[in-house]
Amino acid sequence: MAIIGIDLGTTNSLVAVWDGEPRLIPNALGEFLTPSVVGVDNNQEILVGSLAQERLYTHPDHTVAHFKRDMGTDRITSLGKHRFRPEELSALVVKSLKRDVEAYLEKPVTEAVISVPAYFNDTQRKATRAAGELAGLRVERVINEPTAAAMAYGIHHREKETTILVFDLGGGTFDVSILEFFDGIMEVRASAGDNFLGGEDFTQSILQGFLDFSQIDKSQLDHKTRNRLRHNAEWAKQALSQQESFVFQFPGKPEFQEWTLDHELLESLSKPLIDRMRVPVERALRDASLGSHDLDSILLIGGATRMPLVKSLIAKMFGKLPLSHIHPDEAVALGAAVQAGLKARDEALNEFVLTDVCPYTLGVETIHMEDSGKLKEGYFCPMIERNTVIPASRVEQFANISRFQSRVEVPVYQGESRMVKNNIHLGDLKFPIPRGRPGTQTVEVRFTYDINGILEVEATVVSTGLKKRLVIEKNPGVLSKEEIERRLQQLAVLKIHPREETENRHLIAKGERLYEEALGKNRIDISDELSLFEGALDKQDPSRIRKARERFKKFLAILEEEMRSL
Ligand code: ADP
Ligand code: MG
Repeated sequence: MAIIGIDLGTTNSLVAVWDGEPRLIPNALGEFLTPSVVGVDNNQEILVGSLAQERLYTHPDHTVAHFKRDMGTDRITSLGKHRFRPEELSALVVKSLKRDVEAYLEKPVTEAVISVPAYFNDTQRKATRAAGELAGLRVERVINEPTAAAMAYGIHHREKETTILVFDLGGGTFDVSILEFFDGIMEVRASAGDNFLGGEDFTQSILQGFLDFSQIDKSQLDHKTRNRLRHNAEWAKQALSQQESFVFQFPGKPEFQEWTLDHELLESLSKPLIDRMRVPVERALRDASLGSHDLDSILLIGGATRMPLVKSLIAKMFGKLPLSHIHPDEAVALGAAVQAGLKARDEALNEFVLTDVCPYTLGVETIHMEDSGKLKEGYFCPMIERNTVIPASRVEQFANISRFQSRVEVPVYQGESRMVKNNIHLGDLKFPIPRGRPGTQTVEVRFTYDINGILEVEATVVSTGLKKRLVIEKNPGVLSKEEIERRLQQLAVLKIHPREETENRHLIAKGERLYEEALGKNRIDISDELSLFEGALDKQDPSRIRKARERFKKFLAILEEEMRSL
């Protein structure tokens, strides 16, 4: 039974399988990258990927992107009649990838390894695992994205003894991991990151730069204009990865002046973001007790590392160029497939051992007794410190503070601050204890952080021997088992667009988007070509459809290129 490896990205998702080596699987459009976008059409059918992405502009209220940023929250997105949690939107992407693999392998798939940003917290990891389950997959393993990328690299360099830094800047998240390879062992020494820093933020800073230059108040713009401007900012950002400057303009809107963006201006607009990238790099080096000169290579992954400003930051920080033969988009999914191969105990992977770390500190809130004898709340007591090798298990004892106390309540936090108010609250553990003099009733709390980066907590009341595996309660970002079961059934009855129609519908959606963006003669041409193509589809003759499709596709590609260089 094949286990699939999934890179569930903020912007793009990919899937790969292990068959003696990791292999990427194309989607219904023949592409490896499936945009992480979900939409609903007029018939309440669910659309995923490029088809949905085209409709972000034409149907903004029925399409959603970047929902990975909401994982671990209970934020609801309404699409048509449907209401979705972030893990359900992610599940729809996973389902689409699963369907692509099943079409490719011609057999059902039931198990998966899914990657997450190393710096994803406990709640976000649980949400990711739930997304896989909601898509009908058993999630064999949740693996850190930079670790996965390093595995894709390491599988070809097993004999080498080397230290590498993985720098992963995706659409919405930034991760840094430092790994050591020796004797077929791959050891993560340290991970650090920022869950709210990615290519999307650079697009936003370009957009803001343009608005400031044009003295436009963003709140005055309608949804479509804002979307269109964002689209242009994205285009400008990507163009600058290949050219020296880009003239930012807004066709058909003379009130927007031309604005020239070059590397220097982009660097100055995004200075705060560039500064933020330094922080996790420095922390990871410090935690691994390494200096920048100790690194043999730098591995760049994530689409946003294509920005020249990332390469110049790397050159400044490390005095060397990054490795260039690793594909920034594909490495994570390939690595997840290597992990799937390890799970399936493939012989080709014998003696390939991986150890990973917990990238942040986990602990509980405690009360301190001040010199005056006054009790002060709100202190963080670390249980598992960041960059501890996983799986890890730690025990601490806590005692009652008053003779009337009959319950213990332990708030669980993740973070690095001495005061819990600055850390992330993961939930509360509550259980009864016998009464007794202060300090006499002790409770042993055990934290276990498993290889998936998921936390489990067990408490034992020492005097009674009562043991309890505790479920972290009251976290709106985590679905219970029963809730997952209930939502699984709801998702199962959703109508998903037929896979075989994807290509045709994608072209129509693209035609409609370009029509809305275009003006004058271009519009007339698009409308004519759309009618021709729709006419051919109505005839239901496969060879005629194929020919019409090729023609329409070519037409759209040329037109899109022309419109971009306007
Ligand atoms: P994720 O892992 O979050 O899905 P990806 O690794 O696919 O993200 O990267 C997506 C980000 O990469 C987006 O912000 C996108 O704008 C950016 N990106 C893709 N290609 C380029 C390019 N040529 N130049 C600059 N940024 C790019
Ligand atoms: Mg990614």
